[in-house]
Amino acid sequence: MDRQQVLQRVVENALDFLTKSINDLNSSPKHSVIGFYTGVELFLKARLLAEHWTLVVSKAQDADASAFLRGDFSSVTLKEAATKLEKVLGSGLSASELQTFINVGNHRNKMIHFFHEEGGELEREQVRTRILMLQMTAWHQLNILLTRQWGDVFAPWQREISSIQRKLRGHRKYLKAAYKHARPAITEAKATGCIIETCPACKYKAEIHLDLKDYPYETTCPVCELAQHALRIDCPNCETEILFRQDGHAACSGCEMTIEPTDLAELLDDAGARHLAALEGEFSELGNCTGCDGHHLIATTEGGQHICAGCLTAFEELSFCEFCGDSNSGDMTESYLKGCNHCEGRSGLYRDD
Ligand SMILES: [Zn+2]
Ligand SMILES: [Zn+2]
Ligand SMILES: [Zn+2]
Ligand SMILES: [Zn+2]
Repeated sequence: MDRQQVLQRVVENALDFLTKSINDLNSSPKHSVIGFYTGVELFLKARLLAEHWTLVVSKAQDADASAFLRGDFSSVTLKEAATKLEKVLGSGLSASELQTFINVGNHRNKMIHFFHEEGGELEREQVRTRILMLQMTAWHQLNILLTRQWGDVFAPWQREISSIQRKLRGHRKYLKAAYKHARPAITEAKATGCIIETCPACKYKAEIHLDLKDYPYETTCPVCELAQHALRIDCPNCETEILFRQDGHAACSGCEMTIEPTDLAELLDDAGARHLAALEGEFSELGNCTGCDGHHLIATTEGGQHICAGCLTAFEELSFCEFCGDSNSGDMTESYLKGCNHCEGRSGLYRDD
């Protein structure tokens, strides 16, 4: 078995676990929860595997290629995988993605240790709703990773990935009770001037948005509990309002123009304000974001606010990398030596690889 075959195997396993998990929701919630977590974890491992097989092997062990190909090794935990995705691939999980996947893992542990399949119908229904809420939000976030950020790696499996999406949507009816329960909160939000949109995860018209333009905010869905960063702007082409969720990719419904994070950064940015914000009048490029690893994606708006077009986050202030001079949303102490996430700093000059 070569490496491509190993990747193929791992992805097929991930898809298999997720499919079974969705099928099991009704008959065996416990197996659904366990299988779902395994599927999520396998996808994160597959992404590491696509980079290099040693990344999947737990750091406590020596990596041995033949043992790996036999499947005879202990593999990284979810948290180790998340750290490696960020440090090695520079394609980390956002804080909310990581938290969601950790919640899925905690839920799995609880199920393994404490759950009894027997119990009344009402209890079963509540358990099912709870599981589905978590699976819908976790899948929504994983799906974005698999189709956008890591789309090139998982391109061969896009059909299977959309079939998981369809299957999970088939369970939407089980969220009816959660929707009923959320109705008063939705009505109240509307009364205070919020805008209600269709939630991209559970598809109920329940996602609460602030009535705010050109500045990021957080959405909440009281049905499935999905929370995302969002931003609204007017299309520069036709003035139709465009809503961005989670990242800076969107298409205008009025003129079909597609906008990428780099375009959004340019639209939000006011070069004059940016130069003014740069201390000592130095020339400054758009900033780098440590949250999403975006290169030159932090715009400075006319009002002097800093907004990342990669992850739709606002920052109070930016610091300059003492080595390359780029502005950055992270802590830049010692950056002369260590660099920022887009330069290696002075120590990089002496590295001999
Ligand atoms: Zn929702
Ligand atoms: Zn337009
Ligand atoms: Zn960002
Ligand atoms: Zn730098």
